[in-house]
Amino acid sequence: MTICPACGGSRSRTSYLGGGRYRDFAYTYLRCLTCGSLFADPMPHEALLAALYSPDYLGEHYAGSLEGGADHPEMAAETACAVRWLAEWKSGARVLDVGCGAGRFLTLAASAGLVPEGYEPVAETAHIAERTTGVCVHTGALEKLAGHYDAIHLADVLEHVPQPIAVLRDAVARLAPGGIVLARGPLENQAHLFHRLIVLSRTARGSVRALPPIETPPYHVALFTAWGWHALLGRAELRPRREEISELRWPAPIGFSARPRALAKTLSRLVSASPVGRRWRFGNRVMTLAARFGE
Ligand SMILES: [Zn+2]
Repeated sequence: MTICPACGGSRSRTSYLGGGRYRDFAYTYLRCLTCGSLFADPMPHEALLAALYSPDYLGEHYAGSLEGGADHPEMAAETACAVRWLAEWKSGARVLDVGCGAGRFLTLAASAGLVPEGYEPVAETAHIAERTTGVCVHTGALEKLAGHYDAIHLADVLEHVPQPIAVLRDAVARLAPGGIVLARGPLENQAHLFHRLIVLSRTARGSVRALPPIETPPYHVALFTAWGWHALLGRAELRPRREEISELRWPAPIGFSARPRALAKTLSRLVSASPVGRRWRFGNRVMTLAARFGE
């Protein structure tokens, strides 16, 4: 039986995204009929995950951070916002950044008076982050990590792992009493105007002829809806206390562009930011500060 990694539902069907192929790994994106999230079936196996997240991944995706430069402006602003939320919640909080990458969050958090530590499952990546930031970065199995933290930060982690609920539960187990989780990442199957246009376009093309397989590596194995995101948090016994759903400008450029794709994106962002869009939670990014049930 195929289980949705977000809500744990067991009913699914093929989605508008179709299938992907990377090296000898072929998979299909299914849509969960309970929460609407998409997910890869089958999930990447251990050997493929190890190859996908070798230290080369860090070099390719975090080169700006490694050199001390700026991330993508929208991501940099979101990271700064995450640090602000944590500092507002508890100044001087001890924070574990699970999946810290090159450590940009660690540096920012330390400069804001928080007490950060990092975690990366790949030892070589952890050593690079520790060397770059001067902050302690743990490695090995997360469930064996000693110590308890005021807050756990997970940025762009849960969509990458075949079993996000296991990672989330291991992370929650590292919380001190009264501690909180700040999780953020993409909501790639959440409704917004631009998303609907892509779904319509792909569905129309798929009705005429078979869509070519997706050739990009299967980094994102769960494409969440807000419903699926909240179901996942709930399965880890977490209840949102503060949340923001927004829509990224990407793939439109930072400056003005009259290309149809950029104009459609601009319109979509305006709709998402409107009172109607906010009410219906239109967008493709989420940042949630959550506490354990009963706390
Ligand atoms: Zn689901």
